[in-house]
Amino acid sequence: MHKISIPNDYPVELPTPDIEPYATGNTGVPFVWQFDSGVPGPNVMVSAIVHGNEPCGAIALDWLLRQQIRPVAGLLTLAFVNVAAYRAFDPADPNATRWMDEDMNRVWDKSVLDSDRSSSELERARELRPILDGIDVLLDIHSMQHLAPPLMMTGRHVRAKDLARKVGVPERVVGDAGHAAGRRMRDYGDFDDPTSAKTALLIECGQHWEAAAGALAHESMLRFLVATGTLTMDVLAEYADAPAQKCFTVVEAVTIESEAFRFAQPFTGGEIISETGTLIGHDGDSAIFTTADNTMLVMPSKRLWKGQTAVRLATPDTQ
Ligand SMILES: [Zn+2]
Repeated sequence: MHKISIPNDYPVELPTPDIEPYATGNTGVPFVWQFDSGVPGPNVMVSAIVHGNEPCGAIALDWLLRQQIRPVAGLLTLAFVNVAAYRAFDPADPNATRWMDEDMNRVWDKSVLDSDRSSSELERARELRPILDGIDVLLDIHSMQHLAPPLMMTGRHVRAKDLARKVGVPERVVGDAGHAAGRRMRDYGDFDDPTSAKTALLIECGQHWEAAAGALAHESMLRFLVATGTLTMDVLAEYADAPAQKCFTVVEAVTIESEAFRFAQPFTGGEIISETGTLIGHDGDSAIFTTADNTMLVMPSKRLWKGQTAVRLATPDTQ
């Protein structure tokens, strides 16, 4: 196992529900459940714990399964993804178990999945692949290293941004093309095909272990399932209207090229930098500046390693 050593600044407020009762699944794939309404409609999936130290999605799926919620149209598929890393989670060292061998949200290139390379994450991705091939609409639930405003990441295509607006939360919606280090599950196959109708969203619910991330995972999952026609409006009875959303598009992913990347300030993400040409950080000897007014910093990383994304820069959409 490749343990990650990063000091933790945040309290662990969220519990990690026991998901072992869901191990058998009912699809032939462990920890994957599928319910058929018997009525025509899309195959809609909600996935959790692609990263083992992000319990908010597991909390949402655990609730849905315990309540025995069933779809009113189409199929509802529920997947606990990186179970091995989730099982290894230790609240005393909560950054250590994001993955076992490698980042499971960077292995979803078909060429990588088809290769003979092996890792805990690749084996699990290959097991999940036939399920994912049948999915029409995906919500993949994540959380962030830093305390920052939640984000809905929509990939490159307008159809996912349209779905994010139908879901209605969180307030900030970000179109993006992923990471140089490898393809995310939300960009797998047809989800990233401009000609396909298949759509995927990735929500970042807040800091990994803050209580509010658990609440947003729950709310966004229910709103997503209503937006896709899988559940009816009554499941949203306890929620007030969501505030108006703001949409952004990532214009640059800053990929680390040196062995020594450092930020110019202790950024945590969500900062909107009004002036073009503001210094963000240094990658070795080269300085990195904003290249547009009102640039939002998207998820500055603590894992400042060569080849990884240090931060993404997004600008507001003109609407
Ligand atoms: Zn994640």
